[in-house]
Amino acid sequence: MARRYQVAVVGAGIVGLACALAAARRGLSVVVIDRDAQANGASIRNFGFVTVTGQPRGNIWSRAHRTRAVWDEIACEADVSILQRGLWLPVRRPEAAAVLEAFMATEMGEGCRLMTAGEARARAPEIIGPDTVAALWSPHDLRVDSRSAIPRLAAWLAARFGVEFLRQTAVQAVEPPRVLTSRGIIEAERIVVCPGDDLVSLFPDYMTDAGLARCKLQMMRLASPGFVLPAPIMSDLGLVRYGGYADLPEAAALRARLEAEQGQALADGVHLIAVQDADGALVVGDSHHDAATPDPFASAAVDQLILDEWHAATGRPAPAVLQRWTGTYAYGPKADLIAAPHPDVRLALITAGNGASTGFAFGEAVISDLFQETFKP
Ligand SMILES: Cc1cc2nc3c(=O)[nH]c(=O)nc-3n(C[C@H](O)[C@H](O)[C@H](O)COP(=O)(O)OP(=O)(O)OC[C@H]3O[C@@H](n4cnc5c(N)ncnc54)[C@H](O)[C@@H]3O)c2cc1C
Repeated sequence: MARRYQVAVVGAGIVGLACALAAARRGLSVVVIDRDAQANGASIRNFGFVTVTGQPRGNIWSRAHRTRAVWDEIACEADVSILQRGLWLPVRRPEAAAVLEAFMATEMGEGCRLMTAGEARARAPEIIGPDTVAALWSPHDLRVDSRSAIPRLAAWLAARFGVEFLRQTAVQAVEPPRVLTSRGIIEAERIVVCPGDDLVSLFPDYMTDAGLARCKLQMMRLASPGFVLPAPIMSDLGLVRYGGYADLPEAAALRARLEAEQGQALADGVHLIAVQDADGALVVGDSHHDAATPDPFASAAVDQLILDEWHAATGRPAPAVLQRWTGTYAYGPKADLIAAPHPDVRLALITAGNGASTGFAFGEAVISDLFQETFKP
């Protein structure tokens, strides 16, 4: 006879795990089903950078604050190390400094500090390059190592809440209360489908209607630079990618200047995030190319643009590349998709490339919606 659960979650990436956590915290019996033997999707290929500063104003920014708080709540119990806190954002152009000034004048700047190059260099001499004209410091962000954090989060959900995991099991159809899998039928009162960038296997029409595509990113791990990175780093290019800055009117002048000076980087969706692992190695990226099926090949020219941006921001040549990889996530015109193909089923995707930063709050919103409560951010 098929096992019966109160909630079945398809997908064991951060979105599925966040939904499982929200359901398990309500005392519900939960099963998580994933076709891979171990985490292999966007959720372990990312920086693990829980970015609050720079998320688009409003709902997404609030979700990021809530998600950061959940990472802090569970880190110790789930044996997830918070490797870094805060954000340094040194900029090299007056137009970028103007964006940061405008940002500071909004509610999003609360708790942050905008510094002159001299002040910033005195505090973080390792990463403030000679061309820096100003730098933003934010205390709001944190960083986990996703390669270990995601498996530990899953293990903790199993140990702490009795969440069951069915791995190497592909879900072929969702016909509530039945989930048809490659290993037989699972029964569940409610079902949440969190398929990441698989836009074709389950409920593909909803994905098509939402205008979703897949976005490919290039990433690298670099040898230790020989110093401790004081916090994750971003640079001028990030100010035209992240809505919290890019949606400000002041960003138009910066974009025009970047188009003239770093047009290829913009065309390849390159911006800089640099974080540091426990062994000192850096994780740096990234780039953005959209396609229905992105090619799996990393371009050396794109990697070089990322390394050049590290050099320009910090004034230091990039250390040797140890590893290169690509990752893909579902991408769309809206920040997320929550659809109800059936009253007891939710299709749930984060489509803005910020699942580590907004996932826990998103999971809470999905489970609230599934139980037809007031939709909360
Ligand atoms: C290179 C890169 C860097 C990034 N950096 C950051 C960052 O620093 N901060 C941040 O906030 N976000 C970042 N992101 C975005 C973030 O990683 C994603 O938003 C998030 O991981 C998406 O999580 P997910 O659970 O939806 O997808 P995934 O992690 O891809 O998980 C989906 C899971 O569903 C399973 N699945 C799908 N269909 C089926 C099926 N039919 N049956 C069984 N299993 C199925 C898959 O096997 C997979 O395990 C980055 C993304 C990439 C690619």
